[in-house]
Amino acid sequence: MTIGVTGGIASGKSTVARAFEAHGIPWVDADDVAREIVAPGEPALDEIVARHGQAMLDAEGQLNRRALRELVFREADERAWLESVMHPRIRQRILAYLERMRESQAPYHLLVSPLLFESGQFRLVDRTLVIDIPESVQITRTAARDDVNEAQAQAIVDAQMPRHERLACADDVIDNSGEAKSLAEQVATLDRKYRALCASS
Ligand code: ADP
Repeated sequence: MTIGVTGGIASGKSTVARAFEAHGIPWVDADDVAREIVAPGEPALDEIVARHGQAMLDAEGQLNRRALRELVFREADERAWLESVMHPRIRQRILAYLERMRESQAPYHLLVSPLLFESGQFRLVDRTLVIDIPESVQITRTAARDDVNEAQAQAIVDAQMPRHERLACADDVIDNSGEAKSLAEQVATLDRKYRALCASS
């Protein structure tokens, strides 16, 4: 069974993934995969450089994310082109990770993705788990973690899927507004639930 874990910025997706890992549950993060497929030597990076030149690389030969971001911000067609290069490869790589985790001894595994619903990745999972926090907590935690001010954090939150829409798509919800102990308890309860579901199916 694949559980798709999602939530807004700083809702606690990575924290939750680590808590499941403590129960022996493997996971893959779609953001990590998106970075992986443009690492040096990867075909997607070669394609970007072939189309847009060496300015897309930094001094170490890594993708110059800022240059790429500015380019696709300026040119909508290039954003579409980039997505056509990235999305199929991200999907293929995620599928490969899911296959590997399916073959492992773990009873279930997680796909952690900030854009689970928006990207269509929810089609790759059997159930969805939304990590939920009130917007005010989200702003505080984003500002504390990412070195942005509250107005910038608010702008990021405003650009994301609204909280109520995300919750409406959830099979299960973790309320991460409390302390670490409460989070650990909710993860333990869900772990029991998921193991029971796997055993019965
Ligand atoms: P995401 O992966 O969704 O962006 P993180 O797991 O990185 O979110 O959590 C965002 C920030 O909030 C991190 O700095 C993390 O340590 C902190 N955090 C997560 N859960 C809690 C909690 N229950 N109480 C206090 N801080 C938390």
